[in-house]
Amino acid sequence: MLEPLAHIGRDPGTGGYLRDAWSPADLELREWFAGEAARRGLALREDRNGNLWAWWGDPSPARPGVVTGSHLDSVRQGGAYDGPLGVVSAFAALDVLRERGVEPSAPVGVACFTDEEGARFGVPCVGSRLLTGVLAPERALGLTDDEGDTLADVLRKAGRDPDALGRDDETLRAVGVFVELHVEQGRGLVAEGRPVGVAGAIWPHGRWRFDFRGRADHAGTTRLVDRDDPMLPFARLVLAAREEAERLGVVATVGKVRVSPGNANAIPGLVSAWLDARGPEERAVRELVAALTGAAAVQEESWTPEVRFDAALRDRLARVAGAQDRGEPAPILPTGAGHDAGILAAAGVPSAMLFVRNPTGVSHSPQEHAERADCEAGVVALADVLEDLCR
Ligand SMILES: [Zn+2]
Repeated sequence: MLEPLAHIGRDPGTGGYLRDAWSPADLELREWFAGEAARRGLALREDRNGNLWAWWGDPSPARPGVVTGSHLDSVRQGGAYDGPLGVVSAFAALDVLRERGVEPSAPVGVACFTDEEGARFGVPCVGSRLLTGVLAPERALGLTDDEGDTLADVLRKAGRDPDALGRDDETLRAVGVFVELHVEQGRGLVAEGRPVGVAGAIWPHGRWRFDFRGRADHAGTTRLVDRDDPMLPFARLVLAAREEAERLGVVATVGKVRVSPGNANAIPGLVSAWLDARGPEERAVRELVAALTGAAAVQEESWTPEVRFDAALRDRLARVAGAQDRGEPAPILPTGAGHDAGILAAAGVPSAMLFVRNPTGVSHSPQEHAERADCEAGVVALADVLEDLCR
């Protein structure tokens, strides 16, 4: 099933994926999802926030579903597995349940969350945050992409209704439990020698935008002493972020920068930089950002507190998912990456995650990989988990 997706949004130059939310590639992936749902006779629903749900059985508040899935969008120049592996495995696990003749006592749902990566508008997990009400629709609709289009514009162009956005209790109540399978974004499972693991907690993490203002001027005629060059405090930010991260035992990354006007022969007038910071403890992450706030106007674009997945559910998953492997519970791993499962967990939906081994640990890059045998082990583990949860 990953095969027909391989060409969608692929940059032929780098082999990386460009699957921004609501881009032509994303719309094609959504079509693919609808096709997979139809092929299996599942009822397709798109909720008010653009998340897709394919149902085997009809969920109701009295009989909520066992839901699995992930996302289909990618970071810019991302890999083939982050997101799609979870959606593909969800459909494959449902097929396994049917082959086994399982008649689930609860409806089974496959979910595809919209704009998980935040590549286009800067805020991750937009679909699940809107669904659970932690992102206000007014704020979401005003987010702009690099072209200056707002999310409201983009939704209208895609034939969706921006006014429909917002907390959606009806959809949320249909989810009794959510399990997201994801390629591991690290080498924890390589170290353990196991194909499948279970998430313990998601580190607290956030994104901040730093705007350094200066004065645009000629690169040749402006004397050094007369310059107000915002690139210099920006450079200090990048170096200080690394030093503070080492001191505080967290990770910090400046991975996106916008220079205006962006001419090779001009001193910039404005440098905007995005800082991503995460760590095992909120206090240390907050301390890092506070230490870096100086020469710039800083805006917190997103913040996600630590997410601890439901312990009983986590242990149940570990037991069931590990049974096929060595008969020992699957290892429990912490993660520095945010996920829709974390947003749902924080909103009170019992949620859990399965990780599939990533031989290099590399993610958010075309080098991201998982071996076919491990992907299959992931599908079997997910099917076992769903079957167990459906009892
Ligand atoms: Zn992901």
